[in-house]
Amino acid sequence: MSLFSPKRKKLYEGKAKILYEGPEPGTIIQYFKDDAACRGPKHDTISGKGVLNNAISSFLMSKLGEIGVPTHLLKKLNMREQLVAQVDIIPIEVVVRNYAAGSLVKRYGLEKGKALPRAIVEYYLKKDELNNPMVSEEHITAFGVASLPEIDEIYSLAMRINDYLSGMFLGVGLRLADFKLEFGRQFLSEHELRIIVADEISPDHCRLWDMKTNMDFGHDIYREESVDVIARFREVAARLGVFPDLTGNTDSNGDVLSMADAAERASQSAKTKEAGSA
Ligand code: ADP
Ligand code: MG
Repeated sequence: MSLFSPKRKKLYEGKAKILYEGPEPGTIIQYFKDDAACRGPKHDTISGKGVLNNAISSFLMSKLGEIGVPTHLLKKLNMREQLVAQVDIIPIEVVVRNYAAGSLVKRYGLEKGKALPRAIVEYYLKKDELNNPMVSEEHITAFGVASLPEIDEIYSLAMRINDYLSGMFLGVGLRLADFKLEFGRQFLSEHELRIIVADEISPDHCRLWDMKTNMDFGHDIYREESVDVIARFREVAARLGVFPDLTGNTDSNGDVLSMADAAERASQSAKTKEAGSA
């Protein structure tokens, strides 16, 4: 099946993305829509948002790949689509916070904008019908959502990602106040699985503040009336040096990794790790 086959099978349609069956078993195509992900009563669809989120998420995930954080990204295909490894999503939203904002301010009475003494990782059950309740490791393991070793792995990946992304954004004058991640289980063989970063990492899932002006560059801008969301997201992309091709031409971010190559690469990196820790 061609990557661009109009007959490809739709697997899921969410608020921000559509998942299609990929060209090889174990792969899917993630299509980025322009719909505002639930937070924006003031903006329903934002033309061009999907293009920018696709470009920014592909960029950030490929950078994470370079420092050895495994992600589902195999290849950015075009303006709105990326080829990703299919995972068994762990239904937890993992939120990492560096500054007090949003529910942290409401729940604990902290002053908005205050730097936290250390990064805080929170878990929310991915259940829209329950309004994504906050859960502890105890809930997660007792409910069988993930095992303790899986939570430990998620926590340590989240911390590494936070350090790397915070530094990257600081370098372009933006404070990463908080952000959300999703992780999944990737089966490398029948008996071998690993936890990898899935979904997206984009301004839709981040609170980003300009270091000089405190201006919002993340999802909080959806709450503002008469703000040019796209101009802000485009600026985030530009500051990171990402210039999505808005002409409609396809672009490439490196070679397609087949599942076999991805599995080979993962087992090589696991071996290197083992050798290092021996
Ligand atoms: P939602 O409205 O559920 O948040 P989105 O519009 O964000 O949905 O669409 C993405 C959906 O695909 C999410 O439910 C997410 O958990 C899931 N997903 C993301 N990456 C992968 C992946 N690599 N494999 C399988 N499912 C994924
Ligand atoms: Mg989502």
